[in-house]
Amino acid sequence: MDEYDCIIVGSGPAGLGAAFNLIEEKPDLNILILESGKTSSGGLRNDCKMNFTYPIGFPVENWKKDESDSYLKKVITKLNPEILEKNNLQVYQKRAEKLGVALINIRQTHLGTDGGLLLINKLIRELKDLEVSIALGETMVSINSDRKIIITDKREIAYKAILIAPGRKGFRFIQSVMDSLGVSYMDHIIDIGIRVETKVEHYPIVRDYYDPKFMFSEKVRTFCTNSGNAHVVQEKYKTVHDELYYSVNGHAYSTERENNGLTNFAMLKTVKFTAPLASGQQFAVNLGLQAMLMGGGKPLMQRVGDFRLGKRSKDSTFNGDLYDFKPTLGTCCPGDISLAMPSKILRNIWKSMKLLDTIVPGVLHPSTIMYYPEIKLYANKPEFLDNNFRVKESIFFAGDGAGTSRGITAAWASGIRASEGMLKEVTL
Ligand SMILES: Cc1cc2nc3c(=O)[nH]c(=O)nc-3n(C[C@H](O)[C@H](O)[C@H](O)COP(=O)(O)OP(=O)(O)OC[C@H]3O[C@@H](n4cnc5c(N)ncnc54)[C@H](O)[C@@H]3O)c2cc1C
Repeated sequence: MDEYDCIIVGSGPAGLGAAFNLIEEKPDLNILILESGKTSSGGLRNDCKMNFTYPIGFPVENWKKDESDSYLKKVITKLNPEILEKNNLQVYQKRAEKLGVALINIRQTHLGTDGGLLLINKLIRELKDLEVSIALGETMVSINSDRKIIITDKREIAYKAILIAPGRKGFRFIQSVMDSLGVSYMDHIIDIGIRVETKVEHYPIVRDYYDPKFMFSEKVRTFCTNSGNAHVVQEKYKTVHDELYYSVNGHAYSTERENNGLTNFAMLKTVKFTAPLASGQQFAVNLGLQAMLMGGGKPLMQRVGDFRLGKRSKDSTFNGDLYDFKPTLGTCCPGDISLAMPSKILRNIWKSMKLLDTIVPGVLHPSTIMYYPEIKLYANKPEFLDNNFRVKESIFFAGDGAGTSRGITAAWASGIRASEGMLKEVTL
């Protein structure tokens, strides 16, 4: 049987952060990164804008500001970001303040989906040079903690310490691991909302601030803004019963590519459930399925002009004369998002959109498209045994799938933090 000091499941930023820290702290360690994809490495491929300011990406239940700041320093040392300049910030901040909205000043960089790929290739080359083994196209299926082995779709592998960091797509997989290990967890928080797409001229703030972070009341916020050569995309998910549903998302290529003049961003509301609702994830899945039902198996899209008039968008009206740009995710079904979204979520999001339109006039142009649903499944909240995200002897979790991050830099930081616990175990 193959045997490693440390196994890292998932080659996203959490896995990479852990791998670099382990090998740099202890170069003689025998490390395996296991990745179910045929290429590396998770969410670094998507847009790759990185935020370097607390609390963006850092769930406050797991991270205090001073902790995240010290890990962010390590992330910066490794990734060496070119922080983007911002302009006119105070103008927007003043307008926002008057309406009780906060515009947070975040240190950020943007590589674009193509730039992210170059970064991944560089990082993987570095890890290979440091003699870290990387098994692509191999999926962890289960774990036997008594024998300290994992079972993949190809073999059994023994570990001394293991980090499981399978990202949002591994949300359900990590739940199955927790069930088999007897680790308690909650998944009572979800983020749900819409993806907004419009012309850059209708949301010109993105020329001054790449990913402006607005925080509204009722736990609504802007999230993951993309512009330049920006596209709305759909992510495929399956329920336990193998039913398909989609969540929309967005990304952009680096500015070296042709500019399509569009921008997109998510408007998300965080919903925290209490008893008797057992699973926020199940609630979100049901919303995803409801949207599929209405959209004939596709996400929904609606022009703001139609929404304001209380009309559904239709194929025949979707490209009327006021609607002066084509959707980048044109496979969605023109429809009525207000029929699919719970009214409280819709009310809060629409109120925030109106406030945003006062701060950045133009975003509610009739042509602006609202895509639904955008669902974030990173709300697993395992019961951690220590500060290094240990869930059982020699077993650690990190990244978005384990609820320790909500973005690239925090995922990387949480990988480092977990790896510090792994180091303690392998050097005992
Ligand atoms: C379209 C899109 C755009 C985004 N844009 C940004 C952005 O601009 N900035 C930002 O900060 N965040 C962005 N994000 C979020 C970001 O990608 C995540 O926060 C981050 O990648 C989480 O890192 P992670 O290591 O936890 O998981 P991931 O990056 O998802 O990596 C997990 C890896 O584990 C692998 N895996 C899963 N299960 C198994 C298994 N059983 N066995 C082996 N391997 C497995 C997966 O294939 C995956 O490669 C975006 C996400 C999407 C989908």
